[in-house]
Amino acid sequence: MATNEVIRACSSRSEDVWFEDGTVVLQVENTLFRVYSGLLSRHSPFFKHLFTLPQPPDAECCDGCPLIKLVADDAEDVRDFLLAIHEIGIPNAIAGNAVRLSAVLQLSSKYEVAELHLKAVEILTPICPVTLSTYYALDAKLRAGESLSVECLLNTLPALIAVANAASTAAPHLLPFVLLQLIRTSDGDNDVIFGGVIHNNKCIMLKPHLQTSLMNGRSTLTRLARDIVYPSVFGHSCPEEGFFCDSLRIQVLSELYRWDGFLDPLRRQANIFAHFCGSCKNRIKADMFSGRAAVWSELPKAFGLSSWQELTPLDE
Ligand SMILES: [Zn+2]
Repeated sequence: MATNEVIRACSSRSEDVWFEDGTVVLQVENTLFRVYSGLLSRHSPFFKHLFTLPQPPDAECCDGCPLIKLVADDAEDVRDFLLAIHEIGIPNAIAGNAVRLSAVLQLSSKYEVAELHLKAVEILTPICPVTLSTYYALDAKLRAGESLSVECLLNTLPALIAVANAASTAAPHLLPFVLLQLIRTSDGDNDVIFGGVIHNNKCIMLKPHLQTSLMNGRSTLTRLARDIVYPSVFGHSCPEEGFFCDSLRIQVLSELYRWDGFLDPLRRQANIFAHFCGSCKNRIKADMFSGRAAVWSELPKAFGLSSWQELTPLDE
């Protein structure tokens, strides 16, 4: 009976995704997951098709169940993905952790688990705005110190890189904002962009095509900031007498530029125009208002992506 049973000295059963009466064993790296083929088939056309493929007579077994190897995946990612399929909804520990959630996002897209994919997108979309008004609303929340559902997303590099990688194939409408946040959070450190970051003993590395997007985006956004958000800070002279707007401009510019020459067109700076005359202030404000709207609509293009309209799912 057990002629094809494989003794796997180097493989171990998953602690929490091993059901004694499961009907199929999935092997990912050195971890074995015993799950239910009927349940996977119900939620995933990919697995449904996989389980109908005829097995060769010498197919490997494990504990009397067919053994299927998923070769290109990470065992911890698959564990979270399977947990989310077998639990009712995405467990809080995963939903509140952007690195783990991004694995569920990526694998639910890869294995065509539509409901789970939708749930992951629903958690991430409110914190990865696709319109300028939702961006401002999020910005206001952050400034007010409100906590977010996936708090770490906005301020840690591993989270941003993991979400960017997953979003590039599984939810591209999240990408423009995540890449913008990545430019901000990496603070000009190119090692982070090209070399990756260590998270839980693993190196999380931005996909090569996203590295290119990010570098191009950084220079395009700087140009847009200069040309359409802050043109009156760069170019105009003050019409009022008795004010020092023209010398203040240089001081303000040095505050706006980051050390590496990046100029953020969408970051709001409190009160740096307070000492300008009313006429200059109005002009600067009007430029920023119209300029930011224009930058937001160009944001995907700055990263070499399709337009917002093409990126955003139809139900928006
Ligand atoms: Zn002035």
